[in-house]
Amino acid sequence: MNNKPVVKLISKPEDMLKTIYTACRTCYSADTPQNIYEGAEDKEKMLKLIERIISSGHYSTIEHIQVSFAISNVSRSCTHQLVRHRHMSFSQKSQRYVKEKGQFDYLIPHTIEKNEELKQKFESFMKDISDKYQEFVEAGIPAEDARAVLPNACATSLVASLNLRELIHIANLRLCTRAQYEIRTMVKMMCDELIKEEPWLKPYLVPKCEKNGFCDEDKSCGRMPKFEELTNKN
Ligand SMILES: Cc1cc2nc3c(=O)[nH]c(=O)nc-3n(C[C@H](O)[C@H](O)[C@H](O)COP(=O)(O)OP(=O)(O)OC[C@H]3O[C@@H](n4cnc5c(N)ncnc54)[C@H](O)[C@@H]3O)c2cc1C
Repeated sequence: MNNKPVVKLISKPEDMLKTIYTACRTCYSADTPQNIYEGAEDKEKMLKLIERIISSGHYSTIEHIQVSFAISNVSRSCTHQLVRHRHMSFSQKSQRYVKEKGQFDYLIPHTIEKNEELKQKFESFMKDISDKYQEFVEAGIPAEDARAVLPNACATSLVASLNLRELIHIANLRLCTRAQYEIRTMVKMMCDELIKEEPWLKPYLVPKCEKNGFCDEDKSCGRMPKFEELTNKN
């Protein structure tokens, strides 16, 4: 089985730029938002204003944009990290209502996958867990209780929706090399899906060090200087 998340952008506004532009201009214009929206045609002009507004931190303007992703083949530990983000909506495959039939799908952490001996041990352990799970289910234990033996590695799927402000925030946190490999991969795929449709978003969907120009992590990957290094030099 492919050991990588599957991510698809399933919904986004057609007129993303026009909506953000209208929100931005409404704040500073005597004109109505209706007229601003109808008159919004010049892409370069819209992008210029939006860029200025986002870099000044006027983030309510990008909260009007809602996007949804269909995500599968990710581990429960990965989605447990994702659901910590409080400005998102989730609909996730239930382990209460959907019984695992036969060997459950699982994700092998990439560090274990690289080591053939440990990978085999991992796979054999997953089989043991699956056997135990089936034993409980066959003994009449409801799936909602039998699932107690299932591991963090268990594969899951979900639909996740969020606004653009939250996606940028999540990209800043989870594209950092300090985030775990799987969620980093998944968030990168979410960002790439949206950038395919809206390439102007590329400079915003970046790790926080790229946004800030320095690293604020204790253990830095070295990609960007630490804040202290910058201030010491000056
Ligand atoms: C590398 C990494 C390691 C982590 N390790 C751990 C760990 O060991 N243990 C652990 O428990 N968690 C851990 N987390 C999760 C982390 O603590 C956050 O819960 C998670 O990243 C959600 O981030 P957030 O709160 O910034 O964002 P969101 O929940 O996405 O919210 C976005 C922003 O909204 C604002 N906001 C949201 N809710 C509130 C609120 N109630 N009050 C005030 N402002 C709010 C904040 O400005 C916040 O940054 C880790 C996260 C990362 C990226």
